[in-house]
Amino acid sequence: MAPPHSNEYSTASPVSSVAAPLFKVNAPNVQYTDEHILSEYTYNNTVINKQADGSMVVEPVNQVYHFKTERAVPRVGLMMVGWGGNNGTTLTASIVAHKRKLTWRNKSGVHSPNYWGSVTQASTVRLGVDANGEDVYIPLSQMLPLVNPTDLVISGWDISGKNLAEGMERAQVLEYDLQRQVYDELATMKPLPSIYYPDFIAANQSDRADNLIEGQDKRKHVEHIKKDIRDFKIANQLDKVIVVWTANTERYAEIIEGVNDTAENFLKAVESSHDEVAPSSIFALACIEENVPFINGSPQNTFVPGLLQLAEQHRAFIGGDDFKSGQTKFKSAIVDFLVNAGIKPVAITSYNHLGNNDGKNLSSHKQFRSKEISKSTVVDDMVAANHVLYQKDEHPDHTVVIKYVPSVGDSKRALDEYECDIFMGGRQSISVYNICEDSLLASPLIIDLVVMAELMTRIQYKTGEMTKFSTFHSVMSILSYMLKAPMVSPNTPVVNALGRQRTAIENIFRACVGLAPNNEMGLEHKIWKQ
Ligand code: NAD
Repeated sequence: MAPPHSNEYSTASPVSSVAAPLFKVNAPNVQYTDEHILSEYTYNNTVINKQADGSMVVEPVNQVYHFKTERAVPRVGLMMVGWGGNNGTTLTASIVAHKRKLTWRNKSGVHSPNYWGSVTQASTVRLGVDANGEDVYIPLSQMLPLVNPTDLVISGWDISGKNLAEGMERAQVLEYDLQRQVYDELATMKPLPSIYYPDFIAANQSDRADNLIEGQDKRKHVEHIKKDIRDFKIANQLDKVIVVWTANTERYAEIIEGVNDTAENFLKAVESSHDEVAPSSIFALACIEENVPFINGSPQNTFVPGLLQLAEQHRAFIGGDDFKSGQTKFKSAIVDFLVNAGIKPVAITSYNHLGNNDGKNLSSHKQFRSKEISKSTVVDDMVAANHVLYQKDEHPDHTVVIKYVPSVGDSKRALDEYECDIFMGGRQSISVYNICEDSLLASPLIIDLVVMAELMTRIQYKTGEMTKFSTFHSVMSILSYMLKAPMVSPNTPVVNALGRQRTAIENIFRACVGLAPNNEMGLEHKIWKQ
């Protein structure tokens, strides 16, 4: 049991570990050493050369990659910014419930902990076929050595000084019988003081800001956060720390030439404590300088151009923006389906109402605007991909409304209408009504973001032209499945379509163990038996 009012919570065993894999690939291009899985992988692609007359010359190309994945799963700490909020308390309580194998009752019966809603923990992938041609599925978590979320050591910051038990009660997400059982343990956890620049979040949040790092010097704030991370790492003998922003949505930072447009200017802006440097950017900078992966779970533009440049210079891992939990996840699946079915959505109209503190913060216009932007770009790539249905630069009308209705609490309501043009001038209207505790959708996403970001720190690649192995690009676009407005490296196209995002995860995992991408050809079932 942690001492009273500790700033962290540990469930993990004290050392990193190599577990026996569920399967081993038996092939000349794959090698297992004590430390690594090594694979040689041929990446096949198709390059199109568009001719002046409109025709195309198509060329299959391939490139050999060598992947090296560390097998030892390290001891990992998760630090959440906004730890005392709905997501932070819900995730922490659920991990305590897992660790203690708690069960709880409500009127429908006895429940036990699960990680449902987490793609890494609760979904399966088709590994291949058995001798009879039957599909063989395994948990995604068994494709590569991954951190077990129950082993995470948890800590974090919050501008609200309430301990995690009080925060969990305030959140009103988990069943009372579960809250009751974890209460004392969560009461020992108190968020570290945090940075509060009132201009960036809604004025209605000021009454909970009672746990603050002092002073106005932004460079000192960066150093303070860096020290918090180092102290946490040492105190818990951690191999790695990952930081996730699950604090309030901030307003957009203005992009100003000479202030946040280049790495150098951004650092100068921090030194001079410029007004346009947001708290989330301070946390991100601290993580970049400490070489700790940082993921932004809120919609604001934390990664201003100068900060993105800095991350690249440091080769530090970053990801964002905005957890893709309910409405947008559904949208990025259904619009993909409609457009790929040859049906043309012409209007997508989304209403939301929610009554939690996130909704309260979003009732302020500037913070709502950040959310509106992140929600509104989500179908662009799917529409642009179908020039049979859409002319160049044509988009469906897309409207997003969010209202704060305190009495529904964390149980968010989302009403969407998809208005579509169909065959021979007809119309199809699809209406969807979704009700769900928002934090029960977001918490498993935090797990996935942490588990996959940690994995990214253990994978290296090399192509023929390279003399040594390198990590992937700083911007972890593999996290896109969990994010509404995925960041990608400069000049890389954004993929929002949910199916494509999941396929990317699955096939990158496969490549690391030397397996070809999954295809759905099923040729073995389409030929005459000999
Ligand atoms: P919440 O309001 O319950 O929690 C946010 C916490 O952040 C609060 O405890 C607040 O005191 C704290 N905070 C604010 N500014 C801070 C700072 N500078 N430093 C440290 N702590 C700070 O919100 P939530 O429901 O947990 O959601 C968190 C974020 O995740 C929001 O921005 C929300 O938009 C985003 N998000 C949530 C979901 C979801 O499904 N729950 C989905 C997508 C995005």
